[in-house]
Amino acid sequence: MTAYDDGNIFSKIIKGEIPSEKLYEDANAVAIMDIMPQTRGHCLVIPKAPSRNLLDASDETLSAVMPLVAKLARAAKAAMQADGVRIAQFNEPAAGQTVFHLHFHILPMYEGVELDLHSNRSADKAALAEQAEKIRAALNAG
Ligand code: AMP
Repeated sequence: MTAYDDGNIFSKIIKGEIPSEKLYEDANAVAIMDIMPQTRGHCLVIPKAPSRNLLDASDETLSAVMPLVAKLARAAKAAMQADGVRIAQFNEPAAGQTVFHLHFHILPMYEGVELDLHSNRSADKAALAEQAEKIRAALNAG
């Protein structure tokens, strides 16, 4: 398997080298809005520990991140008044991975609405900021 390369965009976001619409941060992980959302409220949970994806992640990294994935799933569902939430996680290009630092997609789902295509179009920044504000409020409430 290809080795982890810290030149990826999520590593830069973790280090604060490039901006993001941040929802949450602790010692182990950050959560941000996805800039090419497939659904309203699409966000990402990104462990800080360097791994390319699930296949090379340590048990310690995985056990620390899953509670946060659940926390964001609950907050995004409540904040977006979604009917359900899908969690997605891609490993290697053949599986659709495009950024090679482990991350989990939180995808609020709405009755009768299909997901947009993966990495299809950029979001309106104001819409993302508005959704982020609601998700942050739900995180603080929960
Ligand atoms: P994956 O195919 O699982 O590697 O997905 C990478 C995701 O990262 C896609 O949904 C992109 O829209 C998203 N993405 C790429 N660059 C950024 C960025 N700078 N900020 C937030 N999300 C991003």
